[in-house]
Amino acid sequence: MTQLAGTLYILSAPSGAGKTSLVKALLEQDPQLVVSVSHTTRARRPGEVGGQDYNFVSMDAFNELIEQGQFLEYAEVFGNKYGTSQQWVREQLAAGQDVILEIDWQGAEQVRRLMPEAVTVFILPPSRAALRERLTNRGQDSDAIIAGRMSAAVSEMSHYPEYDYLVINDRFEVALDQLASLFKARRLRQEVQQQLQAELLSELLSER
Ligand code: 5GP
Repeated sequence: MTQLAGTLYILSAPSGAGKTSLVKALLEQDPQLVVSVSHTTRARRPGEVGGQDYNFVSMDAFNELIEQGQFLEYAEVFGNKYGTSQQWVREQLAAGQDVILEIDWQGAEQVRRLMPEAVTVFILPPSRAALRERLTNRGQDSDAIIAGRMSAAVSEMSHYPEYDYLVINDRFEVALDQLASLFKARRLRQEVQQQLQAELLSELLSER
C-alpha cells in the first residue's frame, strides 16, 4: 500500500492559553501524533529538558542552521530566535505521522506559504481576566512585566483570523476533546479513507 502522508498541524496561542499542556495530553492519547521540538536561542527555564522541550542552541549555532537552510520556518519572538527543523518534519509526514508545530503567527505565515495544506489552529483563553491570572501565576513578576506579557498576548491573539480553527481553552477537558475531534475528523476525509479503505471500497463496488 502507498504510504499515507500525514497532516501538518500548526497550533498557535498567546502564552497563558494552555497550549503546551493541551499538546502534551494529545500526544499521550494519540499515537499517530508527534510534535516538533524547535530550536531556540532562549535560556532554558527550570524544569525544561534540552532535546525534549527545545533544542537549546547559541545564537551562532542558530545562525549557522539558518545558513544551511535547515529550518522550515524561523522567527524572533520576545527577543529570542525559534525555528522548526525542516528535515524532521518532512520525514515524519512522509512516514504517515500527523505532526504538530507549536509556533507563533510569524512561523505559521511562513509554513502556510510553503505548505498550504497545513491545518492551522489558534487556541484562545476564555477571558482577559483568565489570561491575566494565568500570566500572573507563573511567578513573582512585577506589574510592568505582567503588563508587557498581556500586550504581547493581545498582539499574538490579533492574528486569530488567519487560522482555520479556533479553540477556546476554558475547561481543559473540553478543549482537549475538541482538538482530538478535529484530528480524528481529518482522518475521515475521502482522499485519506480512499487509501486506508482501498480493499473495502473495491470490494463494495465490484459487480460479482
Ligand atoms: P516560549 O519561549 O514561551 O516557550 O515560546 C514563546 C513563543 O515562541 C510561543 O508563542 C511559541 O509558540 C513560539 N515558538 C516556539 N517554537 C517556535 C518555532 O519553532 N517557531 C516559531 N515561529 N515560533 C516558535
